Amino acid sequence: MPRCQYILSDEKTAGRAIEGALDEMERMDRIMSNYKNDSELSKVNKKAAKSPVPCNTELLDVIEQSQYYSELSGGAFDITVSPIVALWGFFREKGHVPPDKEIEKLLPAVSYKNIVVKKNAETKKSGTVFFKDIKTQIDLGAIGKGYAVDKALEIIKKCGIDNGCINLGGNIYVLGTPPGKNAWKIGVQHPRNSGEILGYLELKNEATATSGDYERFFEFNGKRYSHIINPQTGRPVSGTLATTIVAPTGTEVDALSTIVFVLGREKGLELIKKIPNADAMIAYEEKDGKIAMDMTQGFKDKFKKTNE
Ligand code: AMP
Ligand code: MG
Repeated sequence: MPRCQYILSDEKTAGRAIEGALDEMERMDRIMSNYKNDSELSKVNKKAAKSPVPCNTELLDVIEQSQYYSELSGGAFDITVSPIVALWGFFREKGHVPPDKEIEKLLPAVSYKNIVVKKNAETKKSGTVFFKDIKTQIDLGAIGKGYAVDKALEIIKKCGIDNGCINLGGNIYVLGTPPGKNAWKIGVQHPRNSGEILGYLELKNEATATSGDYERFFEFNGKRYSHIINPQTGRPVSGTLATTIVAPTGTEVDALSTIVFVLGREKGLELIKKIPNADAMIAYEEKDGKIAMDMTQGFKDKFKKTNE
């Protein structure tokens, strides 16, 4: 009987934690979605080029963290790619190749330096957002889900949960271990065969995320155009099929997976090697069509290939 009571109270705690985490992820979506017209981000996008828009939620924090990742990556990561993402039709539509002229016209609007964040000196939480260019718009698709995972994790920990897994569309945090196991096994999707995995990671108390050219793309004249944009050229990145990151937080893995995708094998892995506790894998196609992977030593240590 006592054992039974223990399980029941544990289930109650788990239920409370799960509900709290889901509510928190929905709250983040209501703030950061650019698919919802009444989200705080949509309001900022509508008004911030006219005058500074007051903002008193996590949105300021995410924008500031995004600017940090832009600096870190030399501009490979840039949340102001939004108008270009829309021009290529990756937002709501099926996708098409736009005329070069249209891309050139939008490029001056694409720079994280066009976003001016002013924080209230006392609270440090509230503040304003202003866009220097009339066409600047923000898209948090490359960092918002990872950030929401971190917020959900805070709730789960507050509820006293020591072991669990949060998965928000492939942005994952694993807390502790599964019952009776030493680590969580997380499959890394094969970029061309959706039912297959390249291998799996064994993780504990860390986050992982993957950016892939298979997530949102269209094909034209035999060429694949994917949703990750080089902010310097305004064109989809090619040459990378997928990147997977392992690091301590959801925000970090989400931002870094996009960054390594844009920077490519050499520069991408070089950057990751300089970041403490971060590891990466990058998948690409060899000349004979075979899929190959480059990875940091830390990633290798945690990864088991399916064919080994
Ligand atoms: P992810 O799947 O995390 O790599 O995020 C990709 C999404 O982020 C895209 O669908 C776009 O909405 C947005 N995005 C595309 N290119 C970039 C970039 N270079 N920097 C920041 N966000 C981007
Ligand atoms: Mg990302």
